[in-house]
Amino acid sequence: SAELIEAGKRAYELDREHVFHSWQAQGPFKPMTILKAEGSYVWDGDGNKLIDMSGQLVNTNIGHQHPKVVAAIQEQAAQICTIAPQHVNIARSEAARLIAERTPGDLNHVFFTNGGADAVEHAIRMARLHTGRYKVLSAYRSYHGGTQLAVNVTGDPRRVANDYGNSGVVHFMPAYTYRSYFGSTTEAEETERALRHLEDMIVLEGAQNIAALILESIPGTAGIYMPPAGYLEGVRELTKKHGIMFIADEVMAGFGRSGKWFSINHWDITPDLLTFAKGVNSGYVPLGGVAMSDAIFETFGDRVYPGGLTYSGHPLACAAAVSAIGVMAEEGMIENAERLGRDIIGPRLAQMMERHPSIGDVRGAGVFWAIELVKNRETKEPMAAYGGSSPEMNELIGALKAKGILPFANFNRIHVVPALNIPDEVLEQALDAIDEALEVTDKYVS
Ligand code: PLP
Repeated sequence: SAELIEAGKRAYELDREHVFHSWQAQGPFKPMTILKAEGSYVWDGDGNKLIDMSGQLVNTNIGHQHPKVVAAIQEQAAQICTIAPQHVNIARSEAARLIAERTPGDLNHVFFTNGGADAVEHAIRMARLHTGRYKVLSAYRSYHGGTQLAVNVTGDPRRVANDYGNSGVVHFMPAYTYRSYFGSTTEAEETERALRHLEDMIVLEGAQNIAALILESIPGTAGIYMPPAGYLEGVRELTKKHGIMFIADEVMAGFGRSGKWFSINHWDITPDLLTFAKGVNSGYVPLGGVAMSDAIFETFGDRVYPGGLTYSGHPLACAAAVSAIGVMAEEGMIENAERLGRDIIGPRLAQMMERHPSIGDVRGAGVFWAIELVKNRETKEPMAAYGGSSPEMNELIGALKAKGILPFANFNRIHVVPALNIPDEVLEQALDAIDEALEVTDKYVS
């Protein structure tokens, strides 16, 4: 309505005057206004309706404004909005049960945080206290959050500006077959070489000093590059052998994103700790957490856990999680995500790759896919340099928006990350638009 558009214009002015944004030089930043969101659609500041193919920051797994989850939050708000973390509350107990039932193996205990970064911080703190060791191994080409330690375990350019050399974090090269650092030409070779590199790193750094290894089960922001067969099993073996706690970061990959409750469920392994956030309640209220093994839990049986948050297990956030997990189960969203990936997104992206020379690689599972764009398939020269944008990528993003798509873009990639319950015909429409828009980047192929 005209009134809402007016309110949005006023909000934009106030935003530029008073709001400080994440990861931006504040001056040139031109944020997009969102006036309304519903299901798989958002409406921008001019009232244009866009298909949300971003999941915002890949967190609205159940889509926007799911009526049952909105009602559950309203009911919880009427009953009890907030309570100190030391008290039992019904929503938190129930959320912990629902999560523990879905995590692999003996990850039966849940510590709730406000989001993903603090989940990562606490998982590492627990691993350090449990092992009495300090160093942390993490992968280049990863994202683990914006707080000080989380950004230091992160392996993307955002770490560099925050790295004072005192975090105790050591980075290794993960398995990434398309741009193999190890010169591999097959998945089997990549698995073998990446694991050899990792074990060398562990030995050379001194296993006795390494508390934890943190890895996204399927790396998200860094490119949805699927671990080659055997890689994660190998990482699990190596961490076991050297007494290192394996933290699976499921903040983005969890809660159905890749067509399983957790992405680690694609493999038959149990990490020592698992971090989650985002999809746990689709971000309707901020929530994250750490699920831990019985052994880690027992470390803090008699010993005080030196950590906590005022809002650990906040009733509104947990009521949203109970309801979101409930509707995901009732409405078969996990199975639907798996089907969308297998029957629609995967085949459509494979077709696009045949048609568009600017596509270097497509990969993913469920509703968790990346299209990697290159100027040349032979050299794999990216359409934007690592860590940056480019006029070519900006033109593509503009074309997608003009065709009614809100995309998720990172460097030289477009991620296809809709809600798990996006209707088939809306998804097809979005994929048609992506297919047409890619003619933009095809022009720059040499
Ligand atoms: N870990 C992973 C894998 C993520 O993708 C993110 C966010 O994108 C985080 C951690 C940080 O989560 P938050 O932004 O909720 O702190």
